[in-house]
This record gives sequence, structure tokens and C-alpha cells, in this order.
Amino acid sequence: MWTTIGHEWAIAALERAIAARRVPHALLFTGPAHVGKTHLAREFAAALQCEGAAPPCGECEACRRVQKGTHPDVRLVEPEGDHIKIGQIRNLQYELSLSPVQGAWRVCLLTDFHTATPEAANAFLKTLEEPPAHAVIILTALDAGLLLPTILSRCQVFALRPVPARRIAQALMERWGAPEERAETLARLSAGAVGWAIYAWEHPEVLAERQERLRELEALLTASRGERLQAAERYSKHPALNEIIGLWQTWWRDVLLECAGCEDLITHADHHEALRRIARLWSLPAAEAALRSTENALDQLEHNANARLVLEVMFLSWQPLAA
Ligand SMILES: [Zn+2]
Repeated sequence: MWTTIGHEWAIAALERAIAARRVPHALLFTGPAHVGKTHLAREFAAALQCEGAAPPCGECEACRRVQKGTHPDVRLVEPEGDHIKIGQIRNLQYELSLSPVQGAWRVCLLTDFHTATPEAANAFLKTLEEPPAHAVIILTALDAGLLLPTILSRCQVFALRPVPARRIAQALMERWGAPEERAETLARLSAGAVGWAIYAWEHPEVLAERQERLRELEALLTASRGERLQAAERYSKHPALNEIIGLWQTWWRDVLLECAGCEDLITHADHHEALRRIARLWSLPAAEAALRSTENALDQLEHNANARLVLEVMFLSWQPLAA
């Protein structure tokens, strides 16, 4: 049984390919981070190796070995550091040239192939052009546009979309026993990244940290200029700065939605009171400006601007609230 959450259309297409014995030699799963690309790719690899009646059964020796990463005919290649490198591709090419040990296929799964160096991507192109008859190559990438067109044209592409919140909430309740309220909060916060929702359920500190970050943001709104400048210095050294600004961005978006009277669309429903209070004191243009300030900050940080200066400008631009 497939355990992938969402992406039903992709599962149906993969099942049809296996049933018709028309398995493509190269597949590409694209989609945002944590949307389930690698999970689906691994389940497809298990389905190809499965010895049970309804692949992937999840119970046979082959399925279990694929899940554990010990199947001799299924190989996972992940970026080493920031990139997939040419040495990894050469090793893989050698392995792919050998006949399968157990099953009918030799499957290789290369995750985040958009990180491949130009040398690695070009070397791999040769394999994609003339794959061995027993080879199934599965690539994952954030976006098809990040790959060489010559690579793209040789793959069957499955563009995975964010998983609907209700689908994620339902899975958290049914499979992980999460209480309804928590499941819905996590599903909404995940923005369709099902892997993030599961991780956050298994690691309660993720939500606790989020609460703390949002409390800090609220405190900054009543802080003096001096306090805001100090906060800028403190945050400029934070290793997860982009992530924090990204969180604040979703919060400002909620304020904007609240100002516009679109309450039912907000993400941080558990902060509804605070959002409502700020929306009452702020105008729509002020909320819009704050949202834009986070976008600008993220953009500048991406271009290696000085983090402290970026934060100072952003914090000082936020309209102060009376304490
Ligand atoms: Zn099986």
C-alpha cells in the first residue's frame, strides 16, 4: 500500500506504468521542499522491487530493504555538501552498468538534482541518453526550470503540488493520532509541505520556537528605536535568519488579510487575537508596507547584503504600536 500523502494522480500514473510494464527509464519529480518527492520516489522504487501481490506491499523483504536503504538494486544519491558531484555520478554509472542482483531493475534515486555541478550534470546526460535496459533513474528537483533542457527532455516529469491542508490534517489524525486542533494548525502552517507537518508533529519544539518568534515580533512593535536596533544586531547573527523572516512574512500577510476582512484565509489562526488587535490599529497600506519590508529583506539577504543593516531598515520601518 502506498503511504505517500496526497499526489494521488502521480501514484495512479506510476501504478499504470508498472501494470502495463511500460516503466520509463527516467523520471523527474519536481515540487517545493518537503512536499513528498523523495518519499514518493522511494515508494516507486519499492513498488518496482516488491515481491508482494499489491506493490508496494510494504511488508515483503524487498519493500523493507528499500525503506531501510539496504536493497542492493536501489541506490540513493544525495548532494554531498551543497552539490551532487562528478565522482558520485561516475560511481553510479559503474553500478548502473551491472546487472541487477535480485530484482528486474536497478533503480537509482538522485535527490535535489538541481544541485548537480555542470560537470556532474553533463556526465549524467550520457547515462540518460543511453540508459542500460534494466535501469530506472529517478531524479528530484525543486523546479524543472533549474535543470538542463537536455536532461529534462529525457525524463517523464511529475510536477508535485503542495498537498491540501485537509489531506495533511486527516493523515496526522489517522496515522499519527494527532488531536484535531493540533493537526489542523500544523497542516495550515505547513503550506502543503507534508514532510514539514510530520516533522513538526514529531518535534513539538518546532511549534514552541514558532510561538517564541511570533511573540518577539509582537514585542518589537511596541519597542523603542534603541531596542529595535539592538534586536537587529542580535538577529543578524542568527543562523536561521531567513527562516525567521519567512515566518514573520507569513504573519504580516495574516495582518494584511485581517485588515482586508479575509479572516478565513489566515495561517496563524492560533494568534487570531493578536492579529485582530494589530489590524484594528493599523491601516491596510501600513500592513502592506510591513509585508513588503520582509520581502525586501529576504531579497537583499539573498544578494549578500549586510544582515544588520537590512534588519535595522526593516525593524525601523514597522509602524510602532502604543504599549
Ligand atoms: Zn513488497
